[in-house]
Amino acid sequence: MPKLLIATENQGKIHELQELLGGLGLELVMPRQLGLNLNVIEDGQTYEENAAKKARAFAAASGLISLADDSGLEVQALNGAPGLYSARYSPKPGATDADRRAYLLENLREQPRPWLAHFHATVAIATPDGELRFADGNCYGEIIPEERGTGGFGYDPIFFIPNLGLTMAELGMDEKNRLSHRALAVQNAIPIMGEIFRV
Ligand code: IMP
Repeated sequence: MPKLLIATENQGKIHELQELLGGLGLELVMPRQLGLNLNVIEDGQTYEENAAKKARAFAAASGLISLADDSGLEVQALNGAPGLYSARYSPKPGATDADRRAYLLENLREQPRPWLAHFHATVAIATPDGELRFADGNCYGEIIPEERGTGGFGYDPIFFIPNLGLTMAELGMDEKNRLSHRALAVQNAIPIMGEIFRV
């Protein structure tokens, strides 16, 4: 079976990507299995640049075709923040996901609701010989002031999807993996992987 390296250390993303990419006839390899611990600095100006940087670094270090995602939450009333900086959005040293959610709510407090937002994901697939391809996906909703649900990770407990009446953290893994930004980006990447792997 051809191997695909999942180029991320984020456990929340690893779980989702394992489900999303299972069944493609590929052997999914995790960085930990190879003893790889790359600390890629995400200093790009776009999701594409950061996703490409991660996918390329892992492909070069492993010799395997590698898939990375760069994602973020864009809140309209904050002019698209935290966006590219979603993983680092808190002034607190050693901040947790809960700290970042609290900081976001603090910054939104004075703004009129609804706090419209969307998650964005860009997936990059890099081959060891330098081929690079991209796909992306968005998921639209709004931020709510009280946390709901215990699933998912990151901003999921305060990201509400109006047509479902649920937050992302109230969805089961199967449901999140049908409609999330990452799920849509991976769906869009599947034909590309078909070309790269000829599966
Ligand atoms: P990065 O792609 O490693 O830069 O991290 C993206 C950050 O965006 C994550 O650490 C989360 O804070 C946030 N994020 C991305 N996708 C999701 C999601 O599916 N749910 C909740 N938060 C997410």
